[in-house]
Amino acid sequence: MPLKLCRPKLVGAAPPILTPRVDLSDRVNCWTRDRQGPRISRERTVPMTDVFKPPLTLLLAAPRGFCAGVDRAIKIVEMALQKWGAPVYVRHEIVHNRYVVDGLRAKGAVFVKELEECPDDRPVIFSAHGVPKAVPAEAARREMIYVDATCPLVSKVHIEAGRHHDNGLQIIMIGHAGHPETVGTMGQLPQGQVLLVETVDDAATVAPRDPAKLAFVTQTTLSVDDTADIVAALQERFPQIVGPHKEDICYATTNRQEAVKALAPRAQALLVVGAPNSSNSKRLVDVGRKAGCAYAQLVQRAADIDWRALDGVRSLGVTAGASDPDDLLEEVIAA
Ligand code: SF4
Repeated sequence: MPLKLCRPKLVGAAPPILTPRVDLSDRVNCWTRDRQGPRISRERTVPMTDVFKPPLTLLLAAPRGFCAGVDRAIKIVEMALQKWGAPVYVRHEIVHNRYVVDGLRAKGAVFVKELEECPDDRPVIFSAHGVPKAVPAEAARREMIYVDATCPLVSKVHIEAGRHHDNGLQIIMIGHAGHPETVGTMGQLPQGQVLLVETVDDAATVAPRDPAKLAFVTQTTLSVDDTADIVAALQERFPQIVGPHKEDICYATTNRQEAVKALAPRAQALLVVGAPNSSNSKRLVDVGRKAGCAYAQLVQRAADIDWRALDGVRSLGVTAGASDPDDLLEEVIAA
């Protein structure tokens, strides 16, 4: 009889038969660091060491880099490898960072797109972005060992959407089409119960079945300012629409965007360390541009820095998305 593994306690599901314990001390540090608010944590002038590289004043945004949800998801994969040995299957990239994914792959994690690609007799982990309800249901039907590494702040949005649905409301989800988190949240409810809105233009044309019975939820990693515009457009069209007190954008995303806004007036350019498929990293680039950085660029590693584009730049802001480890940030700083 295969072992069944329910969700980690933080996600709050049925009593676990076997529940991995995540190292709380590290997570507490992540929460604490995030709650310190936006600031410039380090400022230093790097002397010219190379004729092609100008001397720069680096402004390091804080908070930056790994958030608690990402940290937790990575630890869950590492614990699963320790507990069950390799291979452990992971549905979708556990977090949007190739460096992290490659590191876990080297330890024995196998990344797949769909559950069908996993054998019945090996454990499978669901990524931090969350999954449609049908996925754990199918894993349970196949009597697989599975661990849901969905970030608790994404699970909160799932619960919210379910509650609105139970109250007879149709849901509008503000998010990006095809992003795993959007797919996971929309998949909490039967097809047709959640309408996707990506832009202010979409908000002007979306056609709910009853404008008086509507609620909205949002993806957690959106731009705070862009989302506020979309929410305002929805509220103007549907005055009775129900929503969260604030958008569902998580505090890790919000704080990192605020930190970029705080340093932007002093930075001639901004580098965001992050992956091209990382929503929160791409939003940091958008926020930097809107806040006045003439040049804001996403880089995965130091080798991606376009030094020619930085010609003449003397003050450079640097930050990292919520799925990007310190190693990569330090590599960019050292460059
Ligand atoms: Fe959770 Fe926010 Fe981090 Fe996503 S960005 S994993 S929602 S804390």
